[in-house]
Amino acid sequence: MRTVFYDEIVKKIKNEVININCKPSQHLLDLYEKGIHNETDGRSKNILCILKENSLIASEKMIPICQDTGTLVALVYLGKDIKLDKGFLLDAICQGVSEGYKDGYLRKSIVNNPIERINTNNNLPPVVHTFITNDDQLTIIIMAKGAGSENMSSLKMMAPSSGIDGIREFVIDTVRKAGPNPCPPISLGIGIGSNFEGVALLAKQALVKDLISDKLSYHNDYEILENEILDELNNLNIGPQGFGGKTGVFEVKILMEPCHIASLPVAVNINCHVLRHARIEF
Ligand code: SF4
Repeated sequence: MRTVFYDEIVKKIKNEVININCKPSQHLLDLYEKGIHNETDGRSKNILCILKENSLIASEKMIPICQDTGTLVALVYLGKDIKLDKGFLLDAICQGVSEGYKDGYLRKSIVNNPIERINTNNNLPPVVHTFITNDDQLTIIIMAKGAGSENMSSLKMMAPSSGIDGIREFVIDTVRKAGPNPCPPISLGIGIGSNFEGVALLAKQALVKDLISDKLSYHNDYEILENEILDELNNLNIGPQGFGGKTGVFEVKILMEPCHIASLPVAVNINCHVLRHARIEF
């Protein structure tokens, strides 16, 4: 067994919660740059420049890139040969999240109950998904997920005969209906397969596909299909912030898993232009 320290988990989660909200990743800066280079619509090119500049100012001043600092989602890959020196893993994650939102002056966006709607004032609880792995590694992916894009996400239990054309139609319909609401340029995580609850989680994992490539159980190289769907979506002329142009979507990432013979579950999880993800190793 390998021992991981409770206090180290708290500290790293806290620091990364602040970092992802205030500092754009190199990947996001590259996406802005690519969009600025490729965009032919003058106004949309200008918007992309403003979005990039906004993220750089946030980084310099260590203030949030966006006021909606999101629900904190944690994907926990927990090796079977890991133990903590003290306490409970979920408590350590929650403490790190709470301290990060407090000390980073990040907006607390979670309410205690969907009907009562009293702010919990510490951004708790996070949404945590745990996957047991056959090793002595502990890897946690954190994501700050704003409501504007999460609200535009969609799930459909399709007939198996719908096939790839039906999947494309559903994805395009979801993005067209979302329009400017999820603060484009958006990124899409598309889950295909599993079952009702499994496909939603698959779509969430697809958003961070590049960060979890060593954790995936199935063959998941769908680059050609991803690029084809990306081109189709950018032909919708949604553009940055919905002002038109060909940079409405930054990325499309697909994950597939086996499913029932009578099912074809598909989920589309949308992320706004503020991609706030990090991989933390212990
Ligand atoms: S969708 Fe993203 S950019 Fe838009 S308000 Fe929410 S967090 Fe901010």
